Amino acid sequence: MTTVNVPAVARHRGTLGTAVLHGVRVLGGEPTEVLVREGRIADIGATGRSGAAARRIDATGLVMLPAFVDLHTHLREPGGGDSETIASGTRAAAAGGYSDVFAMANCRPVTDSPERIAHIADTGERVGSCRVHPVGAITLDLAGRDRAPLAAMALAGARMFSDDGRCVDDAALLRAALVESARAGTVIAQHAQCGDLAREGQINAGSAAERTGLPPWPGVAEETIVARDAVLAGETGARLHVCHVSTAGTVEIVRWAKQRGWPVTAEVAPHHLLLDDTRAVGGDTVYKVNPPLRTARDVAALHQGLRDGTIDAIATDHAPHPAHRKAADWCHAPFGMIGLETALAVVAEVLGDGGEPDWALIAALMAHRPAVIGGIEATAGRPLRAGEPATFTLVDPHADWQVDAAKGESLSRNTPFAALRFRHRVVATAVHGLVTADRGSLLSTRA
Ligand SMILES: [Zn+2]
Repeated sequence: MTTVNVPAVARHRGTLGTAVLHGVRVLGGEPTEVLVREGRIADIGATGRSGAAARRIDATGLVMLPAFVDLHTHLREPGGGDSETIASGTRAAAAGGYSDVFAMANCRPVTDSPERIAHIADTGERVGSCRVHPVGAITLDLAGRDRAPLAAMALAGARMFSDDGRCVDDAALLRAALVESARAGTVIAQHAQCGDLAREGQINAGSAAERTGLPPWPGVAEETIVARDAVLAGETGARLHVCHVSTAGTVEIVRWAKQRGWPVTAEVAPHHLLLDDTRAVGGDTVYKVNPPLRTARDVAALHQGLRDGTIDAIATDHAPHPAHRKAADWCHAPFGMIGLETALAVVAEVLGDGGEPDWALIAALMAHRPAVIGGIEATAGRPLRAGEPATFTLVDPHADWQVDAAKGESLSRNTPFAALRFRHRVVATAVHGLVTADRGSLLSTRA
């Protein structure tokens, strides 16, 4: 049976071998030395004990974090090669500091069988620049009618199930999926969007819809489903993960569910943390996303949810689309934004609020907790300490860089952050000592 949790990656630029990174700030702490040997962190603070065989790497001032885990990536393969492939999407992930991504099931064909799970996992192992964890569909062909074979997909390696892009509106069907998922030890990730309430929504309800005349998309479409599903998770004891929380109301509902001890976790996407619906009223389809950009009040509630632990994780919802499709008028353009290569910059900006962000919180939101939610904590999102895999990302906290959509690793260019300047930037990523992305910090330094 295929395992999706191999410790290495197919595509990398070389190995660190035995090396000392000096001047590095582990989790943003004081500059120190990190000794890497045979794919593992051998020692931290190892001045003078590294031995003559070690290559010295100047990492002065760079912040070392555990490599990130993305619970919500659209790699578009199979069936969407004009927007992304497993090869290109995982290159973008590595460039963004990720060691692991969960590949959503809304491909063509849909990932709704053990064979499709195995195929994507095998392709990831063959061409990936990071580890790829296929997400299985909850319903066959994402049609919302018949439950997909969750247990069989779990045996083939799936650890998460989602109809993402669509909501499982049928409460009985969702409940049955929760029960089957709990038996398999997996998690159900719901794209919460009540069809009866969202209808043909195009833009956030309220002033954005009023100013543009576009069909309104109310926050209650999300909140009613999250409330319902949280109750079902509480009743069944099955793990529920709420995808891309976008409203203040959802934050409150998730907080309430957690206070009751229900097994509910939640993620937020970077774009919902930085952008509000005033961006969308100008009609540029790069700001068209599902769920839509919400109000400044919602954005503030998401920030609070991150800080108080209501929101467990950052997930990109990286959703590539070719330029010609995004060039359509608002109602005909597809929903979605790319985000793997900008996630850290945006999150550090939001949490830093003009100063130094809480790096330990970023490590929790982008590495530790998503690894636990996705059930891959044995090999991903590990703490940075001696004996653990050398699976880390290096961040330049003084990069002062401008996002250039044309220079990304993703095949698509639909970033809402183009031309924005950010202070923090991922400069290198390593997985078990293999360098999967490098802007010159790791491999090109002199020995
Ligand atoms: Zn979604």
